[in-house]
Amino acid sequence: MTAYKHRIPCPHCGENMGIRKSQGLTPVYRVATVECRNDECGFRGTADIEVTNTLTPSDIPNPTVNLPFSPRLMQALMAQKAS
Ligand SMILES: [Zn+2]
Repeated sequence: MTAYKHRIPCPHCGENMGIRKSQGLTPVYRVATVECRNDECGFRGTADIEVTNTLTPSDIPNPTVNLPFSPRLMQALMAQKAS
């Protein structure tokens, strides 16, 4: 076993799925083709991958990308302001 990697389990058999390819539709949105690694299962599908929030802002931001801070971070900032 190598180092832990984030993985997506197959919705049918729970085995790891591999990401075959992903196609970027916008800077924050891509569609990936996923394939189950269990030969007995053979499921293939697509997965949407969307970057939805900012946790740490980029030092070289893309002006066309506007990602809101994550709700949790907003709450933390609000709490700071309130105190
Ligand atoms: Zn499967």
